[in-house]
Amino acid sequence: MQAGSCLCHYSAGASAWSPPDLGGGGSSPASGGPVDRALLEDLAAASRILAAQGVVDAFGHVSMRHPNAPDRFLMSRGLAPALVGADDIQEFDLNCLTCEGDVRPSFLERFIHGEIYRARSDVMSVVHSHSPSVIPFGLVKTPMRAMFHNAAFLAAGVPVFDIAEKFGATDMLVGNRDKGEALVAVLADKPVVLMRAHGSVAVGPDLPSAVFRAVYTEVNARIQHQASSYGGPIAALSAEEGRLADAVNIKAGQRAWDLWLKAVGR
Ligand SMILES: [Zn+2]
Repeated sequence: MQAGSCLCHYSAGASAWSPPDLGGGGSSPASGGPVDRALLEDLAAASRILAAQGVVDAFGHVSMRHPNAPDRFLMSRGLAPALVGADDIQEFDLNCLTCEGDVRPSFLERFIHGEIYRARSDVMSVVHSHSPSVIPFGLVKTPMRAMFHNAAFLAAGVPVFDIAEKFGATDMLVGNRDKGEALVAVLADKPVVLMRAHGSVAVGPDLPSAVFRAVYTEVNARIQHQASSYGGPIAALSAEEGRLADAVNIKAGQRAWDLWLKAVGR
């Protein structure tokens, strides 16, 4: 984007939707500053990668923390992930209000992202998906475990967030700060949290790592279903093996990122 311009992309006939008043006086927060156009292109490409990899379909979203303002984050406006381009990126404060008066409709579940960035200074990117192979592990007592080295990050443990525990019967969506906070409490310091009868969230120290983890959470789920079908114990990675392998993956994951970028025309 051009230096000095905000992330907002105004269009004639924009929706009458306006950000909710969360007690901040009702005014739209200021931008955290200009963001390199290449980063916006990467974030948009991440959205398309997740669609191409079968992690998201018409729903789901990926965000990144603003590179220069830790209390701001960037995410597409409410749009099917495969359709996202750099001009669709919005900027939010941690209350999930759009910056600079951007009135385009946003994802309802942006509070997943805002509350994780508020609580986890180590997290620079967040993916929320409903990837289908993962869903069963949020429904049963069998925990998801790390089946192979690419999914080493799962060896730290995979908690399950049940929204009903605190909020009773709901629409299952994390659509406000309270629900976001409750999710983050269950995520704690882990890279992935499952959401009962809903989906999952993967976080990472950068955008490629979060995408890598979201993709391999889905792949790992498929492998665990397969391994379970043979019966008997499963020789999953230990916590120590997971820690060692994940350190390698954080660097080696760049190869996957480069491949996936090319595949979506970035
Ligand atoms: Zn969702």
